[in-house]
Amino acid sequence: MPDKPEKPLVTLTDADEERIYILDAQQHRRLVAIKREYMVTDANGPRVVREMTLVQTADGRTIDPNKPIAIFDCPFCNRQNLSLYSIRYCETCQAVVCLQCAHAIRTPEDASFYCPNCWPIIRRDRLIHFYLFNLTNKL
Ligand SMILES: [Zn+2]
Ligand SMILES: [Zn+2]
Repeated sequence: MPDKPEKPLVTLTDADEERIYILDAQQHRRLVAIKREYMVTDANGPRVVREMTLVQTADGRTIDPNKPIAIFDCPFCNRQNLSLYSIRYCETCQAVVCLQCAHAIRTPEDASFYCPNCWPIIRRDRLIHFYLFNLTNKL
């Protein structure tokens, strides 16, 4: 039986780790990236290995620590770590609202989004407007 080739000896030394956080509006630190650098010595000799681990948002986006990015929590359903793609600002009160909680009024050209607090008022006003419009057109 042939001898198994020996695995080259690998030694790791001098691991440096850098963690990058953002501070959110509630003063909570959120981890966005981990950078590691360490020396590897194997059969090919010593070399430096650099790794970067990026954190993903709850809606599947990758947070690049080198670019400005906003991360949101929805105050209505408490979904956390959402990127800008998954939230809207309420047309009335400007609250952050995720797309699952937002109520939308869509037109062929545009869409307006409302938070669950403002939506009942908007819906009521639209119903009143609709009935008044139909009533005046029938008279
Ligand atoms: Zn929500
Ligand atoms: Zn609102």
